[in-house]
Amino acid sequence: MGSDRPGKVAILGGGIAGLAFALRYRQLGGQVSIHERALPRKSEGLGFIVQGNGLRALAQVGRRQAVESRAYRLSGCSVRDHLGHTLIEKDLSAAKGISRSALLEALRETLPSECIQYGRRFSHFEYASSGHARRAVFENGEKVEADLFLGCDGGQSRVRAQIFPDAAPAPARVREIVSVVKSDFLVARNARRLNKIRHSGGGLALGMVPASGDRLIWFLQFDAERYRLSKTDPQSLENFVRSLTREWAGDAGLLSAATNFQHSWVCEASYLEPLEAYFHQNIALLGDAAHALPSFTSQGVSTAVEDAVVLAEALVSDQHTSLHAALFAYSETRKRALHPLLEQGKRLQEEFLDPPHAGQQIPLAGSG
Ligand SMILES: Cc1cc2nc3c(=O)[nH]c(=O)nc-3n(C[C@H](O)[C@H](O)[C@H](O)COP(=O)(O)OP(=O)(O)OC[C@H]3O[C@@H](n4cnc5c(N)ncnc54)[C@H](O)[C@@H]3O)c2cc1C
Repeated sequence: MGSDRPGKVAILGGGIAGLAFALRYRQLGGQVSIHERALPRKSEGLGFIVQGNGLRALAQVGRRQAVESRAYRLSGCSVRDHLGHTLIEKDLSAAKGISRSALLEALRETLPSECIQYGRRFSHFEYASSGHARRAVFENGEKVEADLFLGCDGGQSRVRAQIFPDAAPAPARVREIVSVVKSDFLVARNARRLNKIRHSGGGLALGMVPASGDRLIWFLQFDAERYRLSKTDPQSLENFVRSLTREWAGDAGLLSAATNFQHSWVCEASYLEPLEAYFHQNIALLGDAAHALPSFTSQGVSTAVEDAVVLAEALVSDQHTSLHAALFAYSETRKRALHPLLEQGKRLQEEFLDPPHAGQQIPLAGSG
């Protein structure tokens, strides 16, 4: 496209993919506006493991150092069964633990504040007679006109639902309860490791990962068909976690005791069928909106940033003679890269639900 790049790009959703795209596209001389439904400084979820490929992609948007300075260095990963037997020890020195708010802050801090409009929840598009989207309309009645719209609005994407109405998300079989505990004692006990305890019967695992010197994120992954969670108030969550992990060896009891379940969160992940293409006309999808991965892969952040880099570079490349050609190149490149991860995620989920007796795989995709 080169000098024919789209004049106005409107990013719908200011999470990982949206911010990363804005950073890379601005570096390449483009202009963007970001439209985020949340208000500034709203609590922004808990945290992540960012793997080596994600750190490399963050370097391409110029934010690796900013992220690493806020992140917690990890050294390895240990998986035990609920009786305390070690199943797997693995090096994880290329990965970092980081809270979601610290990661978003690192991405946002060099973007001019006027670039991001908060409190704008995308509602629908208005179309030109050619079938191209002309305006995005927000729930508050405001509108934005653009040449290219990017759906960066996460796993429950409204943009995706509107451009691909037949690809509706299905409820995922594995649900997660996620919490953060402020405790330097528990962080020190985890010794820079992602520690995971898996029930040997399958369908249940407890993971814990430090996100800073005094914050430990933990998550209980459970097969929602086997373990019914009917109520999600704090007391019900606490009872659920305690009753499922009561007899377990390791730190499950300590974690429950240290947790304020008022701040726990039930993650309602959805299963999204892989799409034929990550764009339609002048609307493209990035990150979870394009390809939510099962959480076992720990690749959601990395792939969202990689999408952003590939799309921004395709839009300014002289190799592509039209917007359609640039979006097609982006979509094909990323589908090829995502395919093995989607397969790996599926396999890891199957192993989680029904573990083999020997040679168990670590429930985390290795990426180096
Ligand atoms: C419990 C849990 C644990 C995870 N752990 C990891 C991990 O360890 N490592 C890892 O790599 N990944 C992890 N992930 C996945 C990771 O969070 C996502 O893959 C990543 O955030 C995707 O980035 P995104 O920009 O596509 O979506 P998001 O980061 O979700 O951003 C979407 C943005 O769009 C906004 N938005 C939504 N709807 C609208 C709308 N209608 N209008 C305007 N704005 C809207 C949202 O407010 C949000 O800011 C985890 C996810 C969960 C739920």
